[in-house]
This record gives sequence, C-alpha cells and structure tokens, in this order.
Amino acid sequence: MLHAEGPLLTIDVGARETTETNIDDELAAFIGGRGVATKLAHDRIPFDADPFGSENRAYLATGPLQMSSMSFTGRMSMTGLSPLTDGLVSTNAGGYLSRNFCDTGYSVVELTGVSDELLAIHVTDDGIEFEEVAELEGAEVPAVTDYMSEHHDLEAENIIAIGPAGENLVRYACVMTYNSRAFGRGGLGAVLGSKNVKCITFAGDSPPEIEMDEDVQSTVHRNAATSDDMMRRQGTTQGTEFINDNFSLPTKYFEEYHFEHADQIGGDAVEEKKYKKAACSVCAFACKLPTRDEERGIETEGPEFETVFSFGSNMLIDDVVDVMKSNELCDRYGLDTISAGNAVAAYLAAEDEFGNAELVHETVEKIAHREGIGDILAEGIARFAEELGVRDYTVKNMEFAAHDGRVLHGQGLSYAVANRGGDHMYSTTLRVEYSGKIDSEGLEGKPEIVRRREDHAAFRDSGIVCAFAGGTGLINEDQHEILFGCDYDDLLAVGSRVVELERHFNNKRGKNREDDTLPYDLPGIEDALDEYYELRDWNADGTVPDETVDEYAQTD
Ligand code: SF4
Repeated sequence: MLHAEGPLLTIDVGARETTETNIDDELAAFIGGRGVATKLAHDRIPFDADPFGSENRAYLATGPLQMSSMSFTGRMSMTGLSPLTDGLVSTNAGGYLSRNFCDTGYSVVELTGVSDELLAIHVTDDGIEFEEVAELEGAEVPAVTDYMSEHHDLEAENIIAIGPAGENLVRYACVMTYNSRAFGRGGLGAVLGSKNVKCITFAGDSPPEIEMDEDVQSTVHRNAATSDDMMRRQGTTQGTEFINDNFSLPTKYFEEYHFEHADQIGGDAVEEKKYKKAACSVCAFACKLPTRDEERGIETEGPEFETVFSFGSNMLIDDVVDVMKSNELCDRYGLDTISAGNAVAAYLAAEDEFGNAELVHETVEKIAHREGIGDILAEGIARFAEELGVRDYTVKNMEFAAHDGRVLHGQGLSYAVANRGGDHMYSTTLRVEYSGKIDSEGLEGKPEIVRRREDHAAFRDSGIVCAFAGGTGLINEDQHEILFGCDYDDLLAVGSRVVELERHFNNKRGKNREDDTLPYDLPGIEDALDEYYELRDWNADGTVPDETVDEYAQTD
C-alpha cells in the first residue's frame, strides 16, 4: 500500500531538544496524515493528559500524495487532544504548505512540552532552530507572516502560525497557514498557544521519492483543469441556495431552517466579490475564493459556505460584505469560523440582537482577546450556554456545521457518533442525502452508510486527498485503488482503524454512548446507535474493547 515516507521529528519545546524516530511500520499500516498521526497520538499522549498541559502533543503530518503532481493534494493534516471536545481531533488545511513540509524530509512533526518563552521554530532538512519572538506576542496572523518574510526570507506558504486567539487559549482557535487557510476545527491553535509556539516554518530540499501511477495522476489533473463544476467559480458557496431550498440551512441560531435572504450571501453574491482565481498547491480545480469590497476596504479569502451559514443565516446577517468582514477577522485572529460564528450567534440570541453586524464584529474581536463577554464566549457554547440562558447546540462540545440533522437524519446520526462531534466532514453523509439517492427522512440503512463514509473520510485524510475530489466525482474508487496499490476495502480498513483509535482514546477519557447524543430529538436514534456499534463490533455502550485495538495500538 502506498504510504508517506520519512522519519518522525519530535520537538520538545520546553527542553528545546529534538529527536528523530523511524516510523516506517506505522506509515505502512496507517498511510500518513490523520491515520499515522492518530496512531502516534493514541500511543503517546497520556489518556489523562490536560489539553493545555505539556504532555499534550500536536502532530503535523503529510500523506504520500503530497509528493504527486496531481490536483486535490495540496493539503496537510494536524492532530492533537482538543481543548474544545476533550478528545482526539484531526483537522485538515489547504494552501501551499504541504510541498514545503515534504521538502524537510520528515513525514510527521510532533510537538511536546511547554516553552517558557514565545517561540518560532524553523524546521529544515539541515537542522532545527528555536527563535525567541517576544516581539510577536499578540500579533495577528498576517503580521507573523510579514515578520518571517522580512527576517527569514520565507513565504506565507512556508508558515503555520497562531493569532491572538491561540495565544489567549480560545478553545476554538485554529492554526493558520498561507494567512487564509485554517487547520480549523477543535482548537489546535490553543494547543500551540499553550505550548508558547507562535509559528513554525518549513523549508528544505530533501523530499522523499514516492512513485505512483502516472496515468491516474494526469487523468485526474486534466479532468480537474477542464471540469465545468460550479465549485470552480463559487467554491463551497455554490450549494447555498440548494441547501436553503432543502430547508437544511440553520437560521436564527438554529430556530429556523430557511433564510429568506440566502441569495444575498450565497454563491452568486460571493462570486460577485471574487476578483481572481486561487487554489492549493498543484490543484487545477482551483476552488478558492479571493474576494474584496473596495468601498469598505475589505479583502479576504471566502467566505466558504460554512461561514455563510455561521456568520450569515444563523445570525440573520444578509449583507455578504458583513460576512466577508467576519471571515477576515477570524483569519487574522486565528479563529475557526464555524465555532466562532455559532458562539456569536448564541450571544445574539441571548441579547436579542440578531442582524447586528457591528456587534458581531466587535464580539469576534473580544473573543480573540478574551475581553469582557469575549472571555465567556471563548470557552465554546457547551461551556457557556447555561450562563447565557441559550440552548447548547453542540455535539461533544463541538459547534455544529450547517446541514441540519433535524432535516438530514443520516447526517444527524453522523453528528451524534462522530468522534470529532458536530462536524460535517467526519463522514459527509449529507452528500448522499442531498443527492436524492436515499430519503433524508428516517434512519433505516443509515448506520451502514455513516460507518462506510467515516472510514472513507479517515483514509482520505490519511492519503491525503481533498474532500472535494470525491464530492465532485473527479477521483473514483478504481483510481484510489491504482494510486494506493491495493483494494478499496483495504483502504476502508485503514480508515476503520483510525476511527477506532480515536474512539478508544476518547473512551479512556470517559466518553461513551452518553456522549453520542444530539441536542434535539431524532426519531429512531437509539436503535440506529445499537446498529452502528454492532457494525463496528463495539460494545453497546459505545466503547471499543481493548482487545480490538490490541493488535495495532497500546491500550494502557
Ligand atoms: S479542490 Fe479546492 S480546496 Fe481542494 S485542493 Fe483544490 S483548490 Fe484546494
């Protein structure tokens, strides 16, 4: 089976020491990316670790496809113990980092310990350098990029950085790369903040040699370049009106499912503000959305659809430029736009201030700096809902993506069981339900669909393939088999082990069936949970037996 190559680099930021470890066996079994990082995190982060403690570890990992010349591979994976969900979380960012990361020769970089000074860490194929950067304390993400460019002649594509939100331990702070691409969900920016790491740079000239089928690479690349998919013009926002018409666009802090002004913030409105094409490295599909509004002096990348929901419909904001402004602020401060938007929407609900864009922008700033109400909202909805008297719309403390599970019942089940909580990318069961191939109502047959799609997503994030390759049909199962040199079922089996290790780790932290719940009724969910656990050979209480993972992981 095709897999990433290169040693693991461990960086102890407290001791300022590094070690290299051969992880060929782990790479052979888990491919790379989310898979191998989950295996390492499972075995190396103590089950009782504090997410903000020195024993938590953060992993950046590449897959084998990052050495290809094929579209849909400009992505990297990041894994760690989440301060938001209190379980293992992996998150995936695009941009141009992946090739520079591979040039260092490492397959995985692991951070551990806590530094007593704010650090930038420079990873090259020629050694690791620690730089104290007290002058970057509180700096916004673009300022960190500018500093690295000025002092080290590095580009935005060499860098990951946190903004003030990460330094201030906002539980849904993200890690940014290329200024506008985010390792978004689960608060790994706050994990870097807790380690006092402001920035890591990657550069070198020692990429591993990984051979893969040339025909598939060129076919996929050519089809990406010539596709007439609407995503190439409008990115993920192209689905806004369809989703709204389907009554699955959460609106007014989840009180409603349909936003009457969705057309003012959806695909056409965003495309009108788009001023050039943009992509991730090597990707000819180029679905990114650089936008600007000259009148108000706003320039950003996006909003993507999830931000149209979180900072638009869910707040009754109907001006696309206001949503662009929120997007720009989140990128600068290093905040996950889904969780931040939901947290602000909850605040608007508590204050009866829906539609107040000025208050939204002020509140985002307060969250990033933990000022006033921002200090409360920075904890995430699950931790502040009671205090503000609002409903807790989260699963496992993770704020919901759009695609309402009360309408898309299979997606609702997926939110409930996902180890990451209320996130749509964990299985993307929504795609099957939107396609009309199955009825979105009811849960019959859905546990098997959720299980298979979770396994697919986990191997895809290990490979690493952009989720939009499958979503657009531009990479199919046969091509995956040829690229990875094995049966598709073998790839799903890797994905299944990844999901199982996440679950097992979370079980050891006390999580079980009681955490696989939704904040609303979903008819038939208890039977569906039974069926889902049975399909996975797990216990009826949602736990993974130790002996199941004994073969491929440490269990104590
Ligand atoms: S499809 Fe879009 S998000 Fe995916 S790699 Fe290409 S440009 Fe990046």
